[in-house]
Amino acid sequence: MRASLSIPQLRSRLNGRVIAPDDPRYDQARTVFSGAIDRRPAAIVRVADADDVAHVVAHARETGVELAVRSGGHSGAGHGVSEGGIVLDLAQMRALEIDAGSRTAWAETGLTAGEYTTAAAAHGLATGFGDTGSVGIGGITLSGGVGHLVRKHGLTIDDLLAADVVTADGELVRADAESHPELFWALRGGGGNFGVATRFRFRLHPVGTIVGGMLLLPATPDVIAGFVEAAERAPEELSAIANVMPAPPMPFVPAEHHGKLVVLATLAYAGAPEAGERAIAPFRALAEPIADMVRPMPYPEVFQPEPEDYRPIATVRTMFVDGVDRHTAETILDHIRAATAPMAAAQLRVLGGAMARVPADATAFAHRKSRIMVNVVAMVMQRDEVDAHRGWVMKFADALRQDDAGAYVGFLGDEGEERVRAAYPGATWDRLAAVKATYDPTNLFRLNQNVPPTSV
Ligand SMILES: Cc1cc2nc3c(=O)[nH]c(=O)nc-3n(C[C@H](O)[C@H](O)[C@H](O)COP(=O)(O)OP(=O)(O)OC[C@H]3O[C@@H](n4cnc5c(N)ncnc54)[C@H](O)[C@@H]3O)c2cc1C
Repeated sequence: MRASLSIPQLRSRLNGRVIAPDDPRYDQARTVFSGAIDRRPAAIVRVADADDVAHVVAHARETGVELAVRSGGHSGAGHGVSEGGIVLDLAQMRALEIDAGSRTAWAETGLTAGEYTTAAAAHGLATGFGDTGSVGIGGITLSGGVGHLVRKHGLTIDDLLAADVVTADGELVRADAESHPELFWALRGGGGNFGVATRFRFRLHPVGTIVGGMLLLPATPDVIAGFVEAAERAPEELSAIANVMPAPPMPFVPAEHHGKLVVLATLAYAGAPEAGERAIAPFRALAEPIADMVRPMPYPEVFQPEPEDYRPIATVRTMFVDGVDRHTAETILDHIRAATAPMAAAQLRVLGGAMARVPADATAFAHRKSRIMVNVVAMVMQRDEVDAHRGWVMKFADALRQDDAGAYVGFLGDEGEERVRAAYPGATWDRLAAVKATYDPTNLFRLNQNVPPTSV
């Protein structure tokens, strides 16, 4: 017979804090980034150390209650919070040891990408994460990590040297190239399926001043296609993300452009400033910029400031395409013009470079040859409006589909097994399922983009 969930028992075993529904901090503690998610867990446990993690994992195993593992809480599917179960919240585990001499760091997984990046920048160093500072290093690293240094230094996982992980049996293991190598392979892209990562060891790169920031261009078919072409041709020091969307009513956007379709791009050139200016020139030449904030800056400034209480409600479809020609650009513009959501966008991330040089089977992220990531998004004001816009998102994605059937796990919502399989195609899925059978045979870690163990 299974034990029942006991808050007093949990409290007695832990160094960290247990927040139950009667706690005044409960509502804040159960909140995750996605405004579409509203779940009420039985308890949120702010673990203090790896022992606490092992106790929570044991309690979940003994009681059978659903376990959510949360680092930064940015999962679009809301996997950072459970309905009725336990949330293992790593937010208090934020220790960071940077060894500037060896250019490595041990980072606890409650840190955000922004916190890590700011601390590393004090040494003139960086590990690449994504485009948003508030994302947790836990979730992004286990997903792969596609960001502003992707073409220069690869994915976040390409700089992951080791991970300390509490597995389903409560054991703390270190996974690296020598020890638990299959687990180490699976952690690099396989998500939260294999245990709770308590800390990561990363490689750091010298990244000081970059040439980067926001460039706003009018969204015409020629500008969109030209932008993607310029980003593909650019030196690998330059990584580019372009959002085709209505111009936001921000102070840096002249009023006459508000609401008109624009390419709102973030560029980051990680190299010498003069070469950076040369690399940016083809983008500036595409059209008269509406706003141009690209300049030499310390690397952490490439992350946009985020309002504390920002909880967007969105429906998203992530995919890869092989190219964006004029016809594809027209398709993008037609669909965004036809959208009825208050905000509709297509985000284009040009890949390649260092990311593409890693063999597809070297890590659980199998999309090394994918050329361009596309995220189609409809944002709404209320939760009950999401369903009305899902059809638009799906039709838009279908219209863009080319030959690459893959998906990036980090941007998946709650979309079912077929889509998780798209993230882990062919042999990747089978290998992940075998690693899962070794480290989590009962699928204790199931509130994630789940790969069930082979034997289940
Ligand atoms: C605004 C926004 C911008 C984004 N930008 C990028 C980007 O530029 N590049 C990119 O690659 N991705 C990006 N993402 C996707 C993001 O990387 C994933 O959603 C990631 O899973 C979020 O990590 P988190 O720790 O914040 O989320 P959480 O919701 O806390 O975690 C997500 C899932 O990861 C697992 N997990 C988290 N931490 C641990 C841990 N320590 N041990 C075990 N499992 C764990 C769990 O299964 C958990 O449910 C973005 C997401 C958002 C919302």
